[in-house]
Amino acid sequence: MSFKNLNLINPIIRAVTEAGYSKPTEIQYTAIPHILEGKDIIGCAQTGTGKTAAFAMPVLQLLKKHTPDHKEIRTLILTPTRELAVQIEENFKVYSKYLPLSQLSIFGGVSIGGQLAALRKRVDILIATPGRLLDLVNQRHIDLSKIEILILDEADRMLDMGFINDVKKVLKLIPQKRQTLFFSATMPSDIRSFAYTMLNNPVEINV
Ligand code: AMP
Repeated sequence: MSFKNLNLINPIIRAVTEAGYSKPTEIQYTAIPHILEGKDIIGCAQTGTGKTAAFAMPVLQLLKKHTPDHKEIRTLILTPTRELAVQIEENFKVYSKYLPLSQLSIFGGVSIGGQLAALRKRVDILIATPGRLLDLVNQRHIDLSKIEILILDEADRMLDMGFINDVKKVLKLIPQKRQTLFFSATMPSDIRSFAYTMLNNPVEINV
């Protein structure tokens, strides 16, 4: 199995090859075809499996496929911590090196000023912790009405940290017609039923 077999486009293959990836990991070859088809996903996957690239590569390809000239944010990734947000942003930066797409992470615990300045530039992919995201939405610095793809990363940790109401509020602000990718390291029944409230006929992936 190669990245080319997964029908990934050359700018992405070139970027990941330069990053030293020679072939897709299990979660990547399992999830990428479904994501490229526009399917929703519920994935049980640990960190270290290559999960970030499993959603980042196809999401970049879907966004590239029809790049509108509007400037709104088109993909939202919710994540529990600042460290994870920064890590996801860094991964996207590597994979989007040869694409005209940009990513930004925002998170609490730091001053809002620098994030506001960054939000004035074009952002296609926003990676956010739920609390800071809602602050910026409430202050009208972020418009979520054009989101096409929503990703929840480490959903179990997000809910353990008490973000469930914030996540529910965010869900009300983004279009219902969208693609949703839900990832969690563990999948107890309460997490699974919460996932199904936001997913549309998802493909289940376990690695
Ligand atoms: P993650 O599970 O997303 O935290 O990724 C774990 C690590 O694997 C990260 O350092 C990635 O850069 C790396 N990685 C992701 N996909 C591949 C791949 N196909 N080949 C080699 N390394 C990879």
